[in-house]
Amino acid sequence: MDYPLLSDNLTVNGNALYFDGRNVCELAAKYGTPLYLMDEDRIRARCREYRAAMRAAFGEKSAVLYAAKASAYKQMFRIMHEEGMHADVVSSGELYTALQAGFPAERLWFHSSNKTDEDLRLALQSNVGRIVADSMEELAALQRIAAKTGKVPEILLRLTPGIDPHTFEAVATGQVDSKFGFGIETGAAEEAVRFALSLSSVRLVGFHCHVGSQVFDSDVFLRSAKIMLAFMAEVRDTFGYVADVLDLGGGYGVRYLPSDPELHLSANIAEIGAFLLAECDRLAYPLPLIALEPGRSLVADAGLTVYTVGVVKPIPGVRTYVSVDGGMTDNIRHALYGAPYTVLPASRMDEPPAMRATVVGRCCESGDVIQPDVPLPGTLQRGDLLAVCTTGAYHYSMASNYNRLPRPPIVMLRNGDDYLAVRRETLDDLLQCDL
Ligand SMILES: *Cc1c(COP(=O)(O)O)cnc(C)c1O
Repeated sequence: MDYPLLSDNLTVNGNALYFDGRNVCELAAKYGTPLYLMDEDRIRARCREYRAAMRAAFGEKSAVLYAAKASAYKQMFRIMHEEGMHADVVSSGELYTALQAGFPAERLWFHSSNKTDEDLRLALQSNVGRIVADSMEELAALQRIAAKTGKVPEILLRLTPGIDPHTFEAVATGQVDSKFGFGIETGAAEEAVRFALSLSSVRLVGFHCHVGSQVFDSDVFLRSAKIMLAFMAEVRDTFGYVADVLDLGGGYGVRYLPSDPELHLSANIAEIGAFLLAECDRLAYPLPLIALEPGRSLVADAGLTVYTVGVVKPIPGVRTYVSVDGGMTDNIRHALYGAPYTVLPASRMDEPPAMRATVVGRCCESGDVIQPDVPLPGTLQRGDLLAVCTTGAYHYSMASNYNRLPRPPIVMLRNGDDYLAVRRETLDDLLQCDL
């Protein structure tokens, strides 16, 4: 095989790429391109793996939250609900989508570094399970709004443990220099606890941190758990307050390139479990409910984007550009932070990679690059299919209508079947809000 297959849901038969056992060329013919495919079987398997690993480590005192921003639409919330997951939402839009999909409000946790009063009102009205407060302004606003409704929401405080997870700057969030959360080393976290405990209309139930993304080993979680627990023990000694919940955030990594490591999820979680139990024991702290909030690692490698090749433009001595019928509108991650990808010639898998080409989108931006320097067959031409791997997270959810391009549909693959979860936008959809 001349082309790397990153995960075992990718296979080849003849010239065609298969995904979750389905011929990608046939699916492209049926639904058109650009097309997002989602391997529902894999999403469900991942949910089960997470939940089993968390139960093995912490028993019933565990929760796995799907970070919905990775990929949010009604069918995804239905799947997560069926799998017994909780979910994180970060806006009224995500909250509304979850509720409309029948996701139980009490299993929703509301995040965001800057929730508006409207967000907080909707969260209270809908009785979301927990609100993760990020700032003093938010605590004050929550107190004011909750007092009016007579509700007493359960809240967590988002803390920044001061860890740099050695990952892309744009996706690292746990350092002191961050727009997210209350710094532990700066004393802001202790001030926030003092304030939260003084409020009559909120009930502090615990603490949250989220250190970053594309993390492959448990060390980052161990270091942040250690800092969080040390802080919780201090808070107990200072305020006599013992937390019921410790949410360690998301961030486990996925493979975008063959050189990326495989994640050993169960072993990692077991290690975190052993560490936390020992640390709680050492500090004589009753084990709180432990939550994780994976987004990417639940859905990313369940996604494949399929494009049709348009223009192939060789510039002698410089490079060859291969243009596809989508681009930064359905995949902005390379343009935004140089994200790497594996691109496969879905309709010519049996031909050797005789050229290297820069795969670009159709938007009017030179930066609209899906991936530079991709090995592809020299025969590649208009009408061929390309597939971009690992596009299940932060693709549809980051999609735009730049250049008035309609967003692609999402087709779910399950048990050998395929069905639309999100239909393709039409030209008329583009006019929906125009007056
Ligand atoms: C984005 C985010 C997550 C999920 O991160 P992944 O890298 O997709 O696992 C979890 N928690 C919070 C608070 C986030 O902002």
